[in-house]
Parts: sequence; structure tokens; C-alpha cells
Amino acid sequence: MYKAPVEDIAFTLKHVAGLSEAIEKGLLGELGEDLVDAILSEAGRFATEEVAPLAEIGDRQGARLIDGEVKTPDGWAKLYRDWIAGGWNGLSAPEEYGGQGLPHMLNVAALEMWNSGATAFALCPTLSMGAVEALSAHGSPELRQKYLPKLISGEWTGTMNLTEPQAGSDVGALKSRAERRDDGTYRLFGQKIFITWGEHDATDNIIHLVLAHLPDAPAGSRGISLFLVPKFLVNDDGSLGARNDVFCHSLEHKMGIHGSPTCTMIYGDGKFGGEKGAIGWLVGEENKGLNCMFTMMNNARLTVGMQGVAIAEAATQKAIAYASERTQGRAPGWTGSGMSPIIEHPDVARMLLTMKALTQGSRAISYACAHAIDMAHRSASDKQHWQERAALLTPIAKSFSTDAGVDVASLGVQVHGGMGYIEETGAARFLRDARIAPIYEGTNGIQAIDLVTRKLPLSNGTQVAGFIAELREIADQVRSSNLDGFGETAARLDAAIADLEQATLWLLKAQADGKLTDALSGATPYQRLFGLVLTGCYLAKGGLASVSDGANQSRIVLCRFAAENLLSETAALKDRVVNGAESLAAARIALS
Ligand SMILES: Cc1cc2nc3c(=O)[nH]c(=O)nc-3n(C[C@H](O)[C@H](O)[C@H](O)COP(=O)(O)OP(=O)(O)OC[C@H]3O[C@@H](n4cnc5c(N)ncnc54)[C@H](O)[C@@H]3O)c2cc1C
Repeated sequence: MYKAPVEDIAFTLKHVAGLSEAIEKGLLGELGEDLVDAILSEAGRFATEEVAPLAEIGDRQGARLIDGEVKTPDGWAKLYRDWIAGGWNGLSAPEEYGGQGLPHMLNVAALEMWNSGATAFALCPTLSMGAVEALSAHGSPELRQKYLPKLISGEWTGTMNLTEPQAGSDVGALKSRAERRDDGTYRLFGQKIFITWGEHDATDNIIHLVLAHLPDAPAGSRGISLFLVPKFLVNDDGSLGARNDVFCHSLEHKMGIHGSPTCTMIYGDGKFGGEKGAIGWLVGEENKGLNCMFTMMNNARLTVGMQGVAIAEAATQKAIAYASERTQGRAPGWTGSGMSPIIEHPDVARMLLTMKALTQGSRAISYACAHAIDMAHRSASDKQHWQERAALLTPIAKSFSTDAGVDVASLGVQVHGGMGYIEETGAARFLRDARIAPIYEGTNGIQAIDLVTRKLPLSNGTQVAGFIAELREIADQVRSSNLDGFGETAARLDAAIADLEQATLWLLKAQADGKLTDALSGATPYQRLFGLVLTGCYLAKGGLASVSDGANQSRIVLCRFAAENLLSETAALKDRVVNGAESLAAARIALS
């Protein structure tokens, strides 16, 4: 059973991602390390004792559509009520509307724990938090006043409605339409698919954020507007009014996250009588909906990254526990009587250490991204720098962490042998649950395009160049630490950082020369290269900090393992970036 790794999480936040430094500089108001520890500890308790025990029933039972109503798995509605009673939904939400205004870093760390407990459950508040962010940034004062307090307390939940059958990665292709009404509201018509927690029985109302075209809007993504469409209309005194013209038509049968209802939503069908068209309110300006939605999606990209970290953590814990008990054969050097635990076999230890390194690396990357977001909001100087750093890190945090979730969960199944393929152990659930995360919130392929075409060129390439220089400093610190435990870490980091730098310069030049196809051919290998280099550097940063922190040596040896075993992949990835495009283009005929 999952046990929240509160110490690891706190250590990474404070010493790797920059929380302690931000506290010392007074950038986080009254927040001190004691309060951080207390919050993490209570979140860890709740995730371990309350959320995780309900994951399996959620997986087995799934969400069900009964007589037009979506029923969540047994115990989940109460779990949700208990969870919001703890104030967890509003951890980093604006204080003005009842939130606690704490740094995003803390919320992201807590999200990791909710997701390790039960990803399908954590998806519900994840979507609500995105809605809060979008409404806070773009909603009119009236909309904010009316909806934010209940979305922040968790009394109502939020959804994000982009996808339609013909409009997935390309949201500009959507067909849902909105018509203006004389009273300033709009009527919405259309079908949205794959809407997470689009309908459920855990709260009285659900607030949908919906993208649609106005009749006179420009075609494509420039003509999209964002609307707030409540399931039940809300009276001026905050009480619930009539049912709005939106309903869940069906639920998808999925590979994983069974407890999360994935809904086909129909707007404007007249199902409940009266005038057709779901009543909606404009969020932001007409035809500027995509900007608003990006606010929500950027938040969601990092929080989806956390799903990868979370599943990797839970899968690693389970695999280590299993490998410590399961006995088979005799490992070389095993002196005990009888068969050795499989953890003693070098190949099993290799799998487990790879799992651990990828988990800790993706955690550090994601927390560093959250730190950059916090600094962009709170640091008076350097605002632009931190905005750019957050922008650069977001696609890497999303993609590297969600890929790590799948890779680690798959290794977890392997460690369990045949029992991993049997549902009883729960190892298979992790893999099934993890597989969606590289797909939604912008596929990892789309993240790679974003990284290469929009993020590398930030400030004429000086943002990424500055970041690479910072990474070199970490390698230098490892070298000058003279600690034996690091082995070849400094040299391996040097080589990996050089691979990253060469690939970066090549991609920037290819784009400057108008060779976009060449650049895009290597975008995904580049994204992984970046994530691996960050993993090596952040594990080293943690290793260095563990010396001064008096923590045990396990961070240094894990860092060395990653540097000497995993980072050799960066040379091959760089080669694919700078030399792979021509053969890829030539080989396309093999697809016909
Ligand atoms: C369980 C689940 C929950 C979801 N929750 C929500 C939700 O709450 N709200 C919501 O709006 N949507 C939701 N989605 C939809 C999800 O965001 C989309 O599935 C995702 O954006 C991909 O779109 P698509 O499925 O149409 O795939 P496509 O866009 O058809 O992509 C297929 C493949 O082509 C690649 N591709 C597409 N375009 C390009 C391009 N321009 N360049 C390079 N490669 C490209 C993709 O990377 C991918 O590999 C959910 C989906 C699932 C399965």
C-alpha cells in the first residue's frame, strides 16, 4: 500500500526546487518551513489513509451512468466531501475568494500525493483548480464573485471542454457554437467528448468552461471564445436555479482511470424543456478564448505532469516491497540460506534504481517548474525571467514526467513478473492509469513542438542558454565537492550538458534557416534529452544538499547510478536530433 514519501517531497521542495531560498528571501510572506512540514505531513496522512485505500474499488467499479446520472465509485463522494473539508481544494487559490494563497509549489506537492493515492480521484480537483485559475485571471468581477468561492471551497467542481470528435490537438477545428442573447448571456450548442468529471454525484453543481465559436467569428483558433456554463443556473443569492440545457450523454470505457467519469457532453439539445441552448457567460473577450484556455491548460500541464510523478512513486514503492519479499534463485554473492529475495539480483536492482531515479528526477523537474511559476507571481524583479523559465519547463515537466510514469509503471509490472500482469497486485493498474497522461492536456508530441518552436527561442535563446549555464554550475559543484560517492558524476553531467547544448544550438539554427521540418523531426528526442539532463543535474543538486543537510548517503549513490547508467542515453538522443531528420524524411515512403 502507498505511503506518502513526505520527507522526500519536503527535501526536494526545499533543497532542489528552491522553496527554502524563496522563504529565506521573504518571497513567500509568512510561510516558514515548519508550516510547510505540517501541511505536507497532513496531506501525506490523508493521501495514505483516506485516498489510497479507495483506489482499487474505483478501478474495479468505475464511474457508471445510471438513468442519466453519473454515479461515482462507492465511497468516493464522501471521500471528496472529507477532502474538501480539509481545505485542500483551495490551498493555492486566491485568499480574496476563500483560498489560502499558499505557493503553487505546495499545491503541486500535495497533488502528487492525491494522485499517488488515486489518480482518477485527484483528476476531479485538478480540473477545478484549472477552472479557478482561468476564472481568476479572465473572469469578470461578477463571474468571479459568483463562482470562485464555491469552486475554491470545492462545493462545486469545474471542467474543461475543448475536445470534439473532429477537434483534438487542433482545437481550432471545433464546431460548437454560441449565440448572443439580448441580456448579455449566450446560448451554447454542440457536442464535447472526453470531458473529465463532466458529470458526477459528488457535488450539487458543476461549472463547465466551454470553448465555442460565435457566428461572426474568424475561422480557426482565432475565432474561439470561452464560456462559463453551469449545470444548474445560479440565482443572485447563490442558491441553485433551473437545470441548464447540458447533460452527459455517455461515458467512455477506458484502459485506466476508471473511477474518473470521461463524459460526452451535449449542449443545447432541449432535453430539459424550455428554450433550446445552454445558457453561458463569456469569460474574457469574444474570440480571445484560446488565451484564457491556455491559462487553464498551462496549469493543467504541470498538474498532469504530477500524475506521472505520482504514479511512478506509487509503482516504485510497490515494486520495492514486492522485490524484497519474493524469493527466486540465488543472487551472486547471496550468503543466506535458500533462495534470495529478487531485489538481490543485479537486474532487478537495476530496474528498481531506474524507477527511483526517474521518479525523483521527474519530481524535481515538476517542483522546479512550480517554483518558477511562484516566482513569476511573487518576485518583484526578474518577473520576465521567471515567466520564461516556467514556460520553458512546463512542456518538459509535463512530458518527461508522464513518460516516466508509463516507463516506471511498466518496469514495476516487470519486477512483479507474472503477478504484475495479474490485476490482483495493483501493479497493472498503475500502468493502465499512467498511459493517458502522455496523451491529454496536449500530447507529449505537441509539448515537444511547443518546447522547440516557442520556448527555445524565448529572449533570442538567452533563457535556455542561461539555464544550461546554471546546470554547468551544478556539475562544477559536484566536481569541487571531491566526494567519492559521486564517482564519475561530474564528467557524465558535463558530457550530457554538452549534448543538450549542441542539440539546442542545432535546433535554433535549423529554425532560423527555415528548416522547420528538420527541427520538428527531432523535437521529441530533444524533449527527452532535456528531461534526462535535468534529472541528472537535480539529483546531483539533491546529493550535494544532502551532505550539508546531514541526510543519508542514498541521494548521492542514486545520483551516481543515474549519471553512470541513464545519462549515456543523451549522446544517442542528441544524435537523433542533429542527424535524424534526413533519414526520417526519406523513409516516409515506407509508410505508404
Ligand atoms: C481519458 C481522457 C480524458 C480527457 N479529458 C479531457 C477533458 O477534460 N477536456 C477536454 O477538452 N479533452 C479531454 N480529453 C481529450 C484529450 O485532451 C485529447 O484526446 C488530446 O488532446 C489528443 O487529441 P486527439 O485524441 O483528438 O488526438 P489527435 O489530435 O488526433 O492526435 C493523434 C496523434 O497525432 C499527433 N498530432 C496531432 N496533431 C499534431 C501536430 N500538429 N503535430 C504533430 N503531431 C500531431 C498527436 O501527438 C497524437 O500522437 C481527454 C481524453 C481522454 C482519453
